[in-house]
Amino acid sequence: MGVISYISSLFWVNKCFWCQKSGHFFCPQCSSDLELYSPYCYVCKKTSDDFTVHKQCSNSFFIRQVIVLTRYRHTQIKKLMRHAKYYKKYRAYHDLIFPNADFFRKYIHSENSILVPVPMHFLRRWKRGYNQSEKIAQNVSKICGVPVENNFIIRRRYTKQQSHLSQQNRVKNLSWAFSLKDITNVDKNSTIYLVDDVISTGSTVLEITRLLHKNGYKKVKVICLASD
Ligand SMILES: [Zn+2]
Ligand SMILES: [Zn+2]
Repeated sequence: MGVISYISSLFWVNKCFWCQKSGHFFCPQCSSDLELYSPYCYVCKKTSDDFTVHKQCSNSFFIRQVIVLTRYRHTQIKKLMRHAKYYKKYRAYHDLIFPNADFFRKYIHSENSILVPVPMHFLRRWKRGYNQSEKIAQNVSKICGVPVENNFIIRRRYTKQQSHLSQQNRVKNLSWAFSLKDITNVDKNSTIYLVDDVISTGSTVLEITRLLHKNGYKKVKVICLASD
């Protein structure tokens, strides 16, 4: 972020992306109208308790549970995600997550669990000034009491933005992109909730899960704010 956009962000008046009322990026009135996902299986999109991936769907997709708050195709959600990620308006995550505290408390088990934000390469993080997944995890943590573990996984390769690539190239782009750090701090039996803003093909979280499985972490789940 440049100096000028940073300074202007300090004077920015928060306005609701929906109704334009001042005070919030997503006001309480509009958030009560937001359509939340009912639990479904991320692979076949059919109903499933607690967002668990069906046994018969888990051959190609080996993550146990993918918890998704709302639909990415809502124009305003798309706008919120873009502004929160690229334009420093990460306060929008708070405005989206807190009114939906019950949703997160219902599906996230706090016992022996940690929240692990999908990591960013340090250069990209330095350029953006923050990792949006960390901002999301911090808000979810305040609601559920599950600690955030930022130094567990690192992104060691500066990969291209996944959204610009085809499915096949997304997988190739991510090979060997991540590694584990501080492994001694994290119990092998703990449930690891990978946190991301938007999930589309799932190639990033799958690549991280592969790495975790290889290192003995078998209980991997995903929390994201929006998906198709
Ligand atoms: Zn509003
Ligand atoms: Zn299924």
